[in-house]
Amino acid sequence: MTRSPGLPKAIATVCLSGTLVEKLDTAAAIGFDGVEIFEADLLAFDGSPAEVRQMADGLGLSIPLFQPFRDFEAMPEPQRRRNLDRAERKFDVMQALGTDLILVCSNVQPSALDDDARAAADLAEMAERAARRGLRVGFEALAWGRHVNRWSHAWKIVQAANHPALGLIVDSFHTLSLDDDFAGIAALPAEKLFFVQLADAPRLSMDVLAWSRHFRNFPGQGALDVPGFLRAVLACGYRGPLSLEIFNDDFRAGPARMTARDGLRSLIAVEAEAGGPALPPPPPLHGFEFLEFAVDEASGEALAGFLEKLGFHEAGTHRSKAVRLYRHGDVNLVLNAEQDSAAAEYFHLHGPSVCAMALRVDDAGQAIARAKALLCPEWQERTGSGERHIPAVRAPDGTLIYLVQPDPSGRSIWQDDFNLLQEAAQDVGTMRVDHVAQALPSGRMDSFVLFYRTVFGLQPEQLWELPDPHGLIRSRAMRNAEGTVRLPLNISESRETVTGRFVSAYAGAGVHHIAVASDDVRRTAAALREAGAPMLQIPANYYDDLAARWGLEDAALTELQDLDLLYDRDETGEFRHAYTTSFADRFFFEFVERRGYEGYGAANASVRMAAQAQRLAAASA
Ligand code: MG
Ligand code: MG
Repeated sequence: MTRSPGLPKAIATVCLSGTLVEKLDTAAAIGFDGVEIFEADLLAFDGSPAEVRQMADGLGLSIPLFQPFRDFEAMPEPQRRRNLDRAERKFDVMQALGTDLILVCSNVQPSALDDDARAAADLAEMAERAARRGLRVGFEALAWGRHVNRWSHAWKIVQAANHPALGLIVDSFHTLSLDDDFAGIAALPAEKLFFVQLADAPRLSMDVLAWSRHFRNFPGQGALDVPGFLRAVLACGYRGPLSLEIFNDDFRAGPARMTARDGLRSLIAVEAEAGGPALPPPPPLHGFEFLEFAVDEASGEALAGFLEKLGFHEAGTHRSKAVRLYRHGDVNLVLNAEQDSAAAEYFHLHGPSVCAMALRVDDAGQAIARAKALLCPEWQERTGSGERHIPAVRAPDGTLIYLVQPDPSGRSIWQDDFNLLQEAAQDVGTMRVDHVAQALPSGRMDSFVLFYRTVFGLQPEQLWELPDPHGLIRSRAMRNAEGTVRLPLNISESRETVTGRFVSAYAGAGVHHIAVASDDVRRTAAALREAGAPMLQIPANYYDDLAARWGLEDAALTELQDLDLLYDRDETGEFRHAYTTSFADRFFFEFVERRGYEGYGAANASVRMAAQAQRLAAASA
């Protein structure tokens, strides 16, 4: 495993699921340099600290920190004396573990004295005892510490103690969760900053302790200014490890390898953002070149028939593979039934489904270089002679993301690899992919947000909670600044919602709808109706409510209702959209028209989901 450039990277064992042995194996396999040993993990391990040391050595992992040592400083006697004895026992463990640094977090006990001089004297005494064994002590301000809860206060105490074996530990969560000023960290003497822990978190208004224990996440997954914090750390000249200390219920339940890879990816990305070793920049994206469906012969026929009802036509066949191209305006859909391909593998796992999407970029090589630096290896698909090689990476759910750049010859991938059919001139106005929505298994939102944010520079939009008749859906779209690539991510906590049923039927994450933008969706909807397209019927009550909500004219309302169009509005514009029924209960299409509107019709999602749930219930009755 090649190590990442920049500062050494570590992860606290508490971040990962599994036994201590599994945690160490995973951290090493993913490429971390070291692990913080959390005492609880050591207590649950049925071997000695020396055996942990041996395992870490065998894996090439350092142990830069042992933690936590709680409720130490400024206690009245006799607790003070007992605490020093307790420290000696931890020093024994540290020596067996082969780590020289212990984290002391600020005291939370009601009986702790509000006395900085006593705190400094106690820490100096502990540091003196540590120094006799060649060990060191780092002091960290917990955001909920009884008397010490800010890094600057902990630093004052460390300065007053004035012992070479005592230093400061900072943790981005404890500082950023209090909106504390971190600029002063840049002026710390680097040799007194013993260790740096990084964690992000979503903005939540709740007790800071509960927030920290359950909702921390990796840098780039939350809303805190971790890059700014790290910039201050790097500015002071700190050269020690960057370590992840994340308490998160989903991470502790999720697959350890995925969590660890996300963790290392987040550290590499945030270090670059904070002025560390640079990464190739995120690629500008110019929309979707195509979406690819994995099918077999039978489902391919059925899907082709479904698409034709939606106005798509067959535009070509692959020169050497069982692959067909369907088109509607600028929307290219590829139906891949080739055996022994990535698509075939995907089909065996998930059935007929979107197995790949292709994004238009200026420089695919640069995009791949960034993805590789962020631990996404390039995917190599078999190509025939004379066929265009299209580089790709895998998204966290296994979907392939192809990167299509303009060829110097001016020829398109379709001209290179397909026998194109003569297309009849069609007047359909603009048709292009507006957004591709994915359903994710519960607990995976953070992982996808991090992937799209770091690898492709997409930004997360506001989180929506959408009421399905059988449970709540949480939805967050990732998009580029231009709005040419938009990927709403939907998670259901319940298996009974339409989204939850999709995830179960599908055995994982996957695309559950594709929205096509039209510049005149009323015309598109009328043409679809005319052609007998399978459109989702919207209950009449919806239109009564719409009239009350937006004060639409009767004629406008009647037109919407006749075409089963939904309507929404925001500060910047209007939105009209219509849904198809789903293909084999798997995915569906949406036709949308944005007039300056930036959302996804969240206000209408409950109506859509209720209509779909009704169809599902009717079908299974
Ligand atoms: Mg910490
Ligand atoms: Mg949509």
